[in-house]
Amino acid sequence: MADFSQTDITYLAGVGPKKAEILNKEIDVFSVEDLLYYFPYKYIDRSRIYFVHEVDGNMPYIQLKGRITAFETFGEGRKKRLVAHFTDGTGFIDLVWFQGARFIEDKYKVNLPYIIFGKPTMFGDKFNIAHPDIDPYINEEERPSGLMPYYNTTEKMKNHFLNSKAIQKIMAAAFSSVVKNLQETLPEKVIQEARLMDLKSAMRNVHFPENASLLREAQYRLKFEELFYIQLNILKYTAERKSKLKGFVFSKVGDYLNSFYEDNLPFPLTNAQKRIIREIRQDMATGEQMNRLLQGDVGSGKTLVALMLMLIALDNGFQACLMAPTEILATQHFITIQEFLQGLDVNVELLTGSTKKSDRERIHSSLLTGDLQILIGTHALIEDTVQFSNLGLVIVDEQHRFGVAQRAKLWRKNVNPPHILVMTATPIPRTLAMTVYGDLDVSVIDELPPGRKPIQTIHQYDKKRGSLYDSTRKQLQEGRQVYIVYPLIEESEKLDLKSLEDGFEHIKEVFPEYTVCKVHGKMKPKEKEAEMQRFVRNEAQIMVATTVIEVGVNVPNASVMIIESAQRFGLSQLHQLRGRVGRGADQSYCILVTPYELSAETRKRIDIMVESNDGFEIAEADLKLRGPGDLEGTQQSGIPFNLRIANLTRDGEILQFAREVAQKILEDDPQIEKPENLILRKQLRKLSGNRYNWGLIS
Ligand code: ADP
Ligand code: MG
Repeated sequence: MADFSQTDITYLAGVGPKKAEILNKEIDVFSVEDLLYYFPYKYIDRSRIYFVHEVDGNMPYIQLKGRITAFETFGEGRKKRLVAHFTDGTGFIDLVWFQGARFIEDKYKVNLPYIIFGKPTMFGDKFNIAHPDIDPYINEEERPSGLMPYYNTTEKMKNHFLNSKAIQKIMAAAFSSVVKNLQETLPEKVIQEARLMDLKSAMRNVHFPENASLLREAQYRLKFEELFYIQLNILKYTAERKSKLKGFVFSKVGDYLNSFYEDNLPFPLTNAQKRIIREIRQDMATGEQMNRLLQGDVGSGKTLVALMLMLIALDNGFQACLMAPTEILATQHFITIQEFLQGLDVNVELLTGSTKKSDRERIHSSLLTGDLQILIGTHALIEDTVQFSNLGLVIVDEQHRFGVAQRAKLWRKNVNPPHILVMTATPIPRTLAMTVYGDLDVSVIDELPPGRKPIQTIHQYDKKRGSLYDSTRKQLQEGRQVYIVYPLIEESEKLDLKSLEDGFEHIKEVFPEYTVCKVHGKMKPKEKEAEMQRFVRNEAQIMVATTVIEVGVNVPNASVMIIESAQRFGLSQLHQLRGRVGRGADQSYCILVTPYELSAETRKRIDIMVESNDGFEIAEADLKLRGPGDLEGTQQSGIPFNLRIANLTRDGEILQFAREVAQKILEDDPQIEKPENLILRKQLRKLSGNRYNWGLIS
């Protein structure tokens, strides 16, 4: 049997070289198989025909049956429009075209029966339907009925007459010729166990649904399959990595951790911190290399956990390093950790882009002798010149700012790869974590240190700036400090944003009795650092900044976070920014300043922020509002594929089930080499070849 997946789409009736080229370029469809996997994005029920007198303004798409009584043209040039007066005997409605008038007038005739389909809208005091679909009315049996699929098409496709309907036609051609050769892509066993529809029926019903319940079954089968192969691949890859790579065994806890715990621990650990440390300690003792993601909301105390884990590495004769995305953060970690370790005999150094050459050389050589035990720094840590004598643990803070390639470089810093822990405050919803980080173990710190008062979040319209400044002044008078964040650095007329520079001048005028400092991304690292330090030392009470302060800055005395033009920020970014306050014992406030006019979606975002302090809840809401493709950070954290039919927000249960089925198969046949699993092997090879970039997952 010919390999059907290779069949070029030009083989299909109605697809010439020009159309094929557009399908190639616009939607990546080359073969008949590609076409089959181009799924409709929605379906509209065409089983019912309405009467014109029933039409009202709230209807979605409807069908009417009747005749055009006359055509009329209005306007000139670009404003020209063609109107067809249409009636079914119960009333009149106008059909309107703003383009293609000549074609329409040629094609459709006055007084012939047609079925028209479209969305009625109110225009003046009459209803009309713009650019309706029109089909000749033949007879009841032959008219389009049931669920009508809609395919996404681009502007370019439409210009070449490749609209949704045309795709459907090409699809029909595929079904009448090649699809009978379509081969099943899941083993019989899986189909039985998961009670799935077979592939051929699923494909037929997803493109030409017989009825709603068959459509649901078809969609379920295809979603399952998509998620199943992703899980199978990730789980197989993980198992292979674990069996191939030998990890260091951190078998004991010794003097470093014990004396820190007994003499230096500044506060009791939270239960979550204790649990995580225990969990990770066990993981680092198994002899397998650890590759773990630690999620913990802002302020949950990840730094302390990181330090204690590094001390365990030291106790087992290894070096450890901690890498942060910015110089400010690395420096802050360095200072914090030095304070934590005061009086203990641990050798810690800081390495960043601005470390002096002589210091750098000293650090390089003491790393090689093993005298230097903990190295903290930025990307500078992963340069090839940085060589360790025995690196056992790497901790990466705020992981989403590091690329996968950079992480991979860290792996090569020792003969065996060190244990790796990536820490992030951007909570990744479970479904997403399972898909993207299927091979990472995930730990979650789900508790904040005690005594923290939940931050109060307030939505304020920018017209009410007066009262906002009054309450801010009260906080300043009580000795607190204030952040004010702006979305852009320079005035942009187009976006009508408050510029940071304007804001800076304005704030200085409003609060002449206080010192205001300013930080933004275009400053040199040295300047930025100096301004930051002024705020840390409370030489400046107000910091005006862009989102550069988003990650990790820790000034417990700051109790007010004002976010200007909050409507411009995404949910997780707002949550990150808010996390800069509420780090001390004082009641803290986050004020979201927006104009009065807001879109419904923005209002919802702001409401979620006002109602919830829980990073996970916010991340889930974000995923729901924006869809996983947009989720902040996923781009950088490398979600390597677009799902074609499954939806991570809605199909969590299918994902979970698919993962279990995949797990079971691998337990029984880790290499996927049994004859009954031949299909799996073939499909995995095929998928790794084209659709997903698996190499990125690690
Ligand atoms: P994040 O998880 O956002 O990196 P940090 O590690 O910066 O959080 O911790 C936030 C603040 O909480 C720091 O000032 C830290 O010293 C403090 N902290 C950490 N653990 C505890 C604890 N168990 N009890 C009280 N305060 C803690
Ligand atoms: Mg942190």
